[in-house]
Amino acid sequence: MRLGWRTSAEPERAERSDHGVVQRDGLAISYRVVRSARRRKTLELSVEAEGVRVAAPLWASDAEVARFVHSKVPWILKHGRRPTHDAPRTPMYRDGESMSYLGRTFPLVVEDRALRRVQVTMDLLGVHIAVPRRLQEPARQAAIETAIRNWYRDRALEEVPYRVERWAAVLGDSPSRVLIRDQRRRWGSCAPDRTLRFNWRLAMLEPGLIDYVVVHELCHLRHPNHGAGFWAEVGRLMPDWRLRRAALVRAGRALPF
Ligand SMILES: [Zn+2]
Repeated sequence: MRLGWRTSAEPERAERSDHGVVQRDGLAISYRVVRSARRRKTLELSVEAEGVRVAAPLWASDAEVARFVHSKVPWILKHGRRPTHDAPRTPMYRDGESMSYLGRTFPLVVEDRALRRVQVTMDLLGVHIAVPRRLQEPARQAAIETAIRNWYRDRALEEVPYRVERWAAVLGDSPSRVLIRDQRRRWGSCAPDRTLRFNWRLAMLEPGLIDYVVVHELCHLRHPNHGAGFWAEVGRLMPDWRLRRAALVRAGRALPF
């Protein structure tokens, strides 16, 4: 099952335009592309007062430029001035931001504390992120992002397997095992050995959408394709699957990572 978005390791999402944004290590790097009519053969990147600038040959596709910028992010962080962070969805993990859990938005409460590792906990007030005081950017953001991913992975482990069990009983067919993975561009997958794999990002989605992904992958146990028989099976378990599928595509586009 394909996602409607790509992860930071695949920056080919840039539209055809002379501006682009790539995401890497939790940072969004926006850049300006200047295509030269002269016979430029290579891509060249510079960091200027107004941000990152890429000089590119006319033939370079937006995807190639995005890949190039993506590969240069460590260099930009080390040698350049601070790049602009203007992608709207990029979390910076500061107090007052929010994150999504089971389709609901929770405020982030970020505190610097005398700790060795980032700690993520949740209560009625929101998601609390305790950050070791010694951490400076960009290590701070990378450490927070890792901790948040791990937190989501644990939440997905709480949410997904029991739903698989419940829907497997309705279907009358069970997987051999259920794994939570970081699957780029996929919400879930069903392997020939009947292993179901699910994306940890499901923990961000509302439960009705998690159920749709679960039902979708379970039905692949009987129909390893997306033919009419497959959709009939999905419809038997979940008559409103079309609505959920559409909502899932929208939710995927809004994910921060
Ligand atoms: Zn599928």
